[in-house]
Amino acid sequence: MNKKIGFIGCGNMAQAIIGGIVNSKIVSNKDIIASNPTNSKLEVVKEKYSILTTNSNVDVAKFSDVIFLSVKPNKYKCVIDEIKDFVNEDDIIVTIAAGIDINFIQNSFGKDLKVVRTMPNTPSLVGEGMSAISFNDLLLNHEKEYILRLFESFGKAEVIDESLMDVIPSISGSSPAYVYLMIEALADGGVLRGIPRDKAYKLAAQAVLGAAKMVIQTNEHPGSLKDKVCSPGGTTIEAIYELERNGFRSSIISAMEACTKKAISMS
Ligand code: NAD
Repeated sequence: MNKKIGFIGCGNMAQAIIGGIVNSKIVSNKDIIASNPTNSKLEVVKEKYSILTTNSNVDVAKFSDVIFLSVKPNKYKCVIDEIKDFVNEDDIIVTIAAGIDINFIQNSFGKDLKVVRTMPNTPSLVGEGMSAISFNDLLLNHEKEYILRLFESFGKAEVIDESLMDVIPSISGSSPAYVYLMIEALADGGVLRGIPRDKAYKLAAQAVLGAAKMVIQTNEHPGSLKDKVCSPGGTTIEAIYELERNGFRSSIISAMEACTKKAISMS
């Protein structure tokens, strides 16, 4: 299937997905277009990925078979009003916004359309994205497979029930930000004890990458992997004790609850 892909809004998330798709070569850069009201972001993607760019959302709607609505949730209504007369029933609408559900998209377009609700994340830019995906029942099986292939071109993708979509920002959409905070804190702790800043970031980031790979590749329970780092009476268990005393796990779960409540409030 040789589909043309369009992005309305060319911010952080759209750029991450465009980078992932172009780098994987699953779609030719001549078949990708992005719009934004201002030129600076368009110049970046044009320069980096040689895709088509425009200031007109209508041009994107006319050109594309798959349209990513990659603006902030509060812009969805006005963008849909602008493009709805140029979208036809064979097109596939992809929403990536927190809190925007399939019903909202259908109602705003005022017609039955193939809609895919997704929640990607910015590591898509380096081919390590994690996306959750829900389809409405108008997509044919081969179209679902195409969309999955598209998302898998820049990372992993899981199909989930739409009723769980508001939880996804907290676990994979927004969570890279919590991990960056942790990497920054690990590096600061190293710098406090004299490790040069650049080396501290490398040491911290590679430890996080390695730990994530251990969970994915060994399929071992994270608690069991943690036990293997904690020698009796050793240094790691001292750190774990301190983290537990400061509510490390519950503070992450509370942060996730705040994230989910915000996503629900946006719907
Ligand atoms: P962003 O602010 O970086 O990008 C939004 C872009 O839309 C901007 O470049 C803005 O100029 C442009 N824009 C504004 N009004 C427009 C209009 N009328 N027509 C066309 N373009 C317009 O935001 P982002 O972080 O890329 O988020 C975009 C969407 O992706 C949001 O709905 C968000 O919920 C979702 N999302 C973001 C992340 C993330 O990590 N940033 C993760 C998952 C999902």
